[in-house]
Amino acid sequence: MISLGIESTAWNFSVGVVSEDEVIALEGDAYIPREGGIHPREAAQHHSEVAGKVLARIFEKVNPGEIDAVSFSQGPGMGPCLRIGATVARTLALKLDKPLIGVNHCLAHVEIGRWLTGAEDPVTLYVSGGNSQVIARRGGRYRVFGETLDIGIGNAIDKFARYISLPHPGGPEVERLAERGERYIEMPYVVKGMDFSFSGIVTHAMKLCDEGYRIEDIAFSFQETAFAMLVEVTERAMAYLGKEECLLVGGVGANSRLQEMLGLMCTDRNAEFFAPPKRYMGDNGAMIAYTGLLMMKHGIRTELSESYVKPDFRIEEVEIPW
Ligand code: AMP
Ligand code: MG
Repeated sequence: MISLGIESTAWNFSVGVVSEDEVIALEGDAYIPREGGIHPREAAQHHSEVAGKVLARIFEKVNPGEIDAVSFSQGPGMGPCLRIGATVARTLALKLDKPLIGVNHCLAHVEIGRWLTGAEDPVTLYVSGGNSQVIARRGGRYRVFGETLDIGIGNAIDKFARYISLPHPGGPEVERLAERGERYIEMPYVVKGMDFSFSGIVTHAMKLCDEGYRIEDIAFSFQETAFAMLVEVTERAMAYLGKEECLLVGGVGANSRLQEMLGLMCTDRNAEFFAPPKRYMGDNGAMIAYTGLLMMKHGIRTELSESYVKPDFRIEEVEIPW
């Protein structure tokens, strides 16, 4: 069985093709904002301009006749961006006369992580630009045990990066700065129950910049504080649920310090830590293709009349028959 998947929730227009055993092809084109953060309409414009090129690159590697299903990111994400992916997917499904499958984007991050690492029943820390959630399976669904009360950790880091004039996306740049940090400066540590909040850290970090603190120390303290909050909630979820695996997914998961902190927490509690290769951490078409393939194997498909995009689609809404 071969599945093609289209990802277009935010910054990346990406198409992946997978079989049950491997990723066969993955091609994409990233939208980079000229200034500021991701502008939904501009990103959608970008996606519609590159969609044809990206698909052409895929079909240099894969014969369209081999494809058994067309999957797409149905949400959550930015409405205008989602609509481009959904439109391309509908067109392709009709043209190839194959089933269409609408995939929950967060579920796809979790499933590609499990697939590529071999984690079976983990507590997943999903950290990306727009989302930050602690997810685990209970009964026939994934549930969110903790999440951000305001912005995603990726957006928080990107906002701080913009303030100090670093190029977008700021995550990798801030990570490099933080490696040269020498001194920890106190930051707002906000964990409420199982939820967390990052906007206070961003505001505080900006203030410290204005006051002339060393930028490397601010980046270091930002990461240490925000990541400690994420690790605390992840550990608590593992303890409550009695789970012995931790899986890290989402673009921010590429951060070595976050991986190290989660790894240490897992070692301390005799748990196992898993992280997929960086290429599959951030938004990509392969994760949509793979989750679509799982859904198709279990008889799930999306009728055209049900294929509208869902910008607020929650992972809890999806029943998981596997
Ligand atoms: P996603 O939405 O899952 O594709 O993730 C995108 C986010 O990941 C952006 O906010 C990036 O700044 C962030 N990101 C990428 N690499 C890193 C890194 N090494 N450290 C922290 N954040 C990162
Ligand atoms: Mg994502």
